[in-house]
Amino acid sequence: STPGRPRVREEKIVVTVRLRPLNKREHLAKDQVAWDCIDDHAIVFKHPPQERSIQPTSFTFDKVFGPTSLTETVYEEGVKNVALSALMGINATIFAYGQTSSGKTYTMRGITENAVNDIYKHIMKTPERDFTIKISGLEIYNENVRDLLKSESGRSLKLLDDPEKGVVVEKLVEERANNDQHLRHLISICEAQRQVGETALNDNSSRSHQIIRLTIESTLRENSDCVRSFIASLNFVDLAGSERASQTHTEGARLREGCHINLSLMTLTTVIRKLSVGKSSGHIPYRNSKLTRILQHSLGGNARTAIICNMSPALSHVEQSRNTLFFATRAK
Ligand code: ADP
Ligand code: MG
Repeated sequence: STPGRPRVREEKIVVTVRLRPLNKREHLAKDQVAWDCIDDHAIVFKHPPQERSIQPTSFTFDKVFGPTSLTETVYEEGVKNVALSALMGINATIFAYGQTSSGKTYTMRGITENAVNDIYKHIMKTPERDFTIKISGLEIYNENVRDLLKSESGRSLKLLDDPEKGVVVEKLVEERANNDQHLRHLISICEAQRQVGETALNDNSSRSHQIIRLTIESTLRENSDCVRSFIASLNFVDLAGSERASQTHTEGARLREGCHINLSLMTLTTVIRKLSVGKSSGHIPYRNSKLTRILQHSLGGNARTAIICNMSPALSHVEQSRNTLFFATRAK
């Protein structure tokens, strides 16, 4: 790698950790802050470890964002380079990972907003190319795929293997965005649709994955018979709560309930772990879940990935936070 360049720019998988502030509910419950960001790279368990053993007590990453950091900073330092590679024809995926209430949706909304602004800024600065941006939105709940751009939610959409396009979600609505405002409007439709599901099923957001996919195409304006064109997907993925993939509910009867474990999330963590070890690790089980099938062409290979691992600072969530840090450690 080139000396002096930030590593974030070159890595295939960029893993960052975001520690949110205590929220109102945690304040009211007199919960305590159990984690400290001692600098941009390290997060430490600061509570005396009398309750349960926290081993190790300190974790280091390329980048750690503390409770006062802005989503804009998370975007600039942890996501931007991955997101913008989609403008150059390289598929990219941004994940928000973490337990329920850790800040995934909060973070992913802000990240999407920042990315949209940045994409249009880039388009303005690149008059020699014609850009087309399309958007689709879907939710995976219990391995069923639902269209977030279509109001009446029918049956689960099917996944098809297209010889040219790869995995295609049959009948998924794809809308062309006329401009940045229109794109924001379409994104807000997806978010509103997801909330419809939330009211219908009260734990929907802890169990479902949301994918907003932008397809960005551009061609060079001049000499149109010899165009150099780029096409790539940029996926924003707000994952199901990571407690759905954890094996740590060893104390409760809930553990062995099949419905507790989320197949897509389990498979994704396996896929990411295998990709992070490198090519030599052999078979990557993309086909084992809907989420990993849909994202197959945007994970691994030439594609770039940013994972923001969100965590609550609360002492009451310390086990799940530790699991998130272990996941983040294995993913990088
Ligand atoms: P999740 O999607 O992981 O379940 P949310 O994004 O809904 O979690 O966040 C849970 C609560 O914490 C929300 O009320 C949200 O506004 C708040 N929150 C999350 N992250 C932050 C942050 N970085 N700063 C301030 N409040 C936050
Ligand atoms: Mg959420």
